[in-house]
Amino acid sequence: MGRLWMASLGGEVLYAEDLPGCCRRDAASAESSFECHACGASWQASLPLEPEECAFTERASDREQKGAA
Ligand SMILES: [Zn+2]
Repeated sequence: MGRLWMASLGGEVLYAEDLPGCCRRDAASAESSFECHACGASWQASLPLEPEECAFTERASDREQKGAA
C-alpha cells in the first residue's frame, strides 16, 4: 500500500495508487505535499486511517446522541 494523499480542495483522500496518473508521478517524488504540474491539483500527505479507532468514535457519538435526545 502506498501513502495516503488528501486533496487540499474537497478533502478527498486517495492512496497514491489511486491518484490520477499525472498526479501519481509527482507524488512519487513528493515529501509531504505537492502540486501536480499537469492538472494543478494540490495534495498533502495524510495519516493512515485507523479503522478500529473510527469504529469506536462512531459508536461513542451514537451513544451521545441518544443520551441527548
Ligand atoms: Zn494531476
